Amino acid sequence: MVDLKSQYERLQEEIDTAVLEVVRSTQYINGPEVKKFQEELETYLGVKHVIPCANGTDSLQVAMMACGLKPGDEVITTSFTFVATVEVIALLGLKPVLVDVLPDTFNIDPEAVKKAITPKTKAIVPVHLFGQCVHMEPLMEIARENDLYVIEDNAQAIGAEYVFKDGTQKKAGTIGHIGCTSFFPSKNLGCYGDGGAIFTHDDELAKKMRVIVNHGMEVRYYHDSVGVNSRLDSIQAAILRIKLRHLDEFAAARRRAADFYNRAFDGHPKLTIPARSPFSTHVFHQYTLKTKDVDRLKLQEYLQAKGVPAMIYYPVPMHLQKAYTDPRYKEGDFPVTEDLSKRVISLPMHTELDEEQLKYITDSVLEFL
Ligand SMILES: *Cc1c(COP(=O)(O)O)cnc(C)c1O
Repeated sequence: MVDLKSQYERLQEEIDTAVLEVVRSTQYINGPEVKKFQEELETYLGVKHVIPCANGTDSLQVAMMACGLKPGDEVITTSFTFVATVEVIALLGLKPVLVDVLPDTFNIDPEAVKKAITPKTKAIVPVHLFGQCVHMEPLMEIARENDLYVIEDNAQAIGAEYVFKDGTQKKAGTIGHIGCTSFFPSKNLGCYGDGGAIFTHDDELAKKMRVIVNHGMEVRYYHDSVGVNSRLDSIQAAILRIKLRHLDEFAAARRRAADFYNRAFDGHPKLTIPARSPFSTHVFHQYTLKTKDVDRLKLQEYLQAKGVPAMIYYPVPMHLQKAYTDPRYKEGDFPVTEDLSKRVISLPMHTELDEEQLKYITDSVLEFL
């Protein structure tokens, strides 16, 4: 699905030098590379504070801890997401309240969020799925009216721009109170191991999160709150500094690949190409087709046999997962999410796809159909 090797080979000189410098410096934890990456990401995103941490899942957990959410508080999110979003809510003893998504963008439906609010609701976690922003303006309005935190799960859309009604733009993850992201190798900004970061414009939340990621410690060996150990290591930061300089060019390469796919599949009676939101640019973390009257698993097998990987994100919505069974939810509750989970299929999407590969992939899909 991703070609990390070709990308590495293209950046090899820069990356090898940077990694070796960290190794030789012996400043493996909280070295100067971490601080430099933090500042460069703040500038890129146009956000006041970036707090690097160990992975995307931690970024969500630390964000929720900083908002002071208490066991039993309700947090609204989408059922059509990667498990981490819902997992941390449950781990903190909070109550995940799931809602349906919109059929075109696969992103959380602000109207459904509005209906799910109760006196116990404390936060909303929109997930910018597959590289495109949730429609944030109505969501922020709902949050303001009900005094709720908005924590953006931006693991899949770093670099995407949200477009406000008045035409101004802000980077995904910098619109709500807190934004969270992951630098897992296959993400749009991926390191060579695990990594993550949290963003906020709010000085107080930033201060709390810096303390939480460091064992709840402000003064060494004095712990005023319960924290966690969540750090981005210096080698990963050095790699991310290089990749951040290429992030916009990476997004452009992904868009070119998506354009090629779109040209091949647009108008096909059995396929719907990804919808483009009028409120967001698309950084194509995934290129996801909606199939109609297609045996999706047979298609996946056919492609597999031809050496083309294809994946289903996500085959089982969160409300139908064993770990998150809840008497409040049953099959049929979120018809859009359930329908999508039966029909979507994602094709290879990364920065190194050339025309020959794209033609082979699209030809293979069309042959099967
Ligand atoms: C990848 C991902 C995460 C978790 O990131 P990790 O770094 O793997 O912990 C969270 N949410 C979404 C939507 C993701 O895609």
